[in-house]
Amino acid sequence: METELEKCRKCADALTPGVNWSASRVRKPDRICSPCNSAAAAVWNRAHPEARQGTQKVYRKNHLDKLASDNNRRRAVKLAALSPDRDEAKIAAVYSLASRLTARFGRPYHVDHLVPLAKGGLHHEDNLVAMRGDYNLAKKDKIIPSVISFFGGEAA
Ligand SMILES: [Zn+2]
Repeated sequence: METELEKCRKCADALTPGVNWSASRVRKPDRICSPCNSAAAAVWNRAHPEARQGTQKVYRKNHLDKLASDNNRRRAVKLAALSPDRDEAKIAAVYSLASRLTARFGRPYHVDHLVPLAKGGLHHEDNLVAMRGDYNLAKKDKIIPSVISFFGGEAA
């Protein structure tokens, strides 16, 4: 006996896992095709804008380091400062450190470009440091000579 094709309970299209039905849904009792599911989700989101915003707010709150990293990366690209020999994993580690310091000490830590992008600095792990937010804001686009000499460069 042939298995009967499952059909979408909304539009009655045949449900094909991986095509209009996600494979993981096969085990779920809710038989609804991907287009009907997307349409229903869009309708729900339009009807509940505050819930949607809440979800985005929670996501942003839980991914502060990623958002900060993405922001700085966009700035770096804009200024053609993306160093070609950068190590994205090491860069991500600096942002992760800033995020953990923020949680640990209950005050914001930023990722600072030691040599500011605006002064020709590169978006490269060797030019990044986790720094207290208030120090970073005070530093602005200055190049701190002692920090530069510490890393073996010359003060500008
Ligand atoms: Zn359908």
